[in-house]
Amino acid sequence: MAHHHHHHHRSGKLTGKTALVTGSSRGIGRATAIRLAREGALVAVHCSRNREAADETVATIEKEGGRAFSVLAELGVPGDVHELFLALERGLKERTDATTLDILVNNAGVMGGVAPEEVTPELFDRLVAVNAKAPFFIVQRALTLIPDGGRIINISSGLTRFANPQEVAYAMTKGAMDQLTLHFAKHLGSRNITVNSVGPGITNNGTPVFDNPEAVAQMAGYSVFNRVGEVTDVADVVAFLAGDDARWITGSYLDASGGTLLG
Ligand code: NAP
Repeated sequence: MAHHHHHHHRSGKLTGKTALVTGSSRGIGRATAIRLAREGALVAVHCSRNREAADETVATIEKEGGRAFSVLAELGVPGDVHELFLALERGLKERTDATTLDILVNNAGVMGGVAPEEVTPELFDRLVAVNAKAPFFIVQRALTLIPDGGRIINISSGLTRFANPQEVAYAMTKGAMDQLTLHFAKHLGSRNITVNSVGPGITNNGTPVFDNPEAVAQMAGYSVFNRVGEVTDVADVVAFLAGDDARWITGSYLDASGGTLLG
């Protein structure tokens, strides 16, 4: 079995590539890290503080014969991007003797879940800092490491197109992320780097609400397929964008919501 997986990795479509997936200790990021590693990429598994969770993702990848290492850095605080790239570059250098980063997935994010009347300036600033400002400066910094033909994938949200007043501030930050996609896609075309957004709908990230059958049935109703998304449903779309098959797609928003936006 281990041998089979190992063989699979050597022939994977991302063999020889390196990837950073922010927020990959759990949820969509974790599934994305596992999927990219399965395609052969060496993956930097990032989270803010929970080293155990990140190491668990790394262990899962290694058990399948893949390659990964964990990187800790809290985003949304001063010095965040510096901290992240210090650890990332160290990890890449140790394993590849270089600091080339082929694939950047901006996935780490926080939700609001607060009525519009209750949003405080502090909460708003925090959402902007983690979901919009950090990804911008991560892209800016990563461009010193991303070679021609690289990939930038930003995890947006269906809430940029589907109104939910409880998430107005969060959705504003994801709208900002789609702007990051649009303008950097143009900027990086000459380097054959593609930049795209992926917009999940409601996706089972393992939080307790997904253990509640009534809540799940209600959430499932938003998708034309009448189920909630699984993290692998989104990770598979990210993996597609990361590969050569997606070379002609840039500046796009890929709806990965199971038809939630169809109304
Ligand atoms: P999740 O399960 O809540 O996991 C979030 C990940 O991001 C964790 O690894 C977390 O690590 C990391 N993270 C959060 N804040 C961070 C910070 N300040 N600094 C560093 N790392 C941080 O998330 P998810 O539900 O999979 O969502 C992933 C992405 O998809 C997010 O951008 C989210 O907005 C988007 N999305 C999710 C859904 C959904 O239904 N799940 C729908 C649409 C869009 P730590 O625990 O160490 O902080």
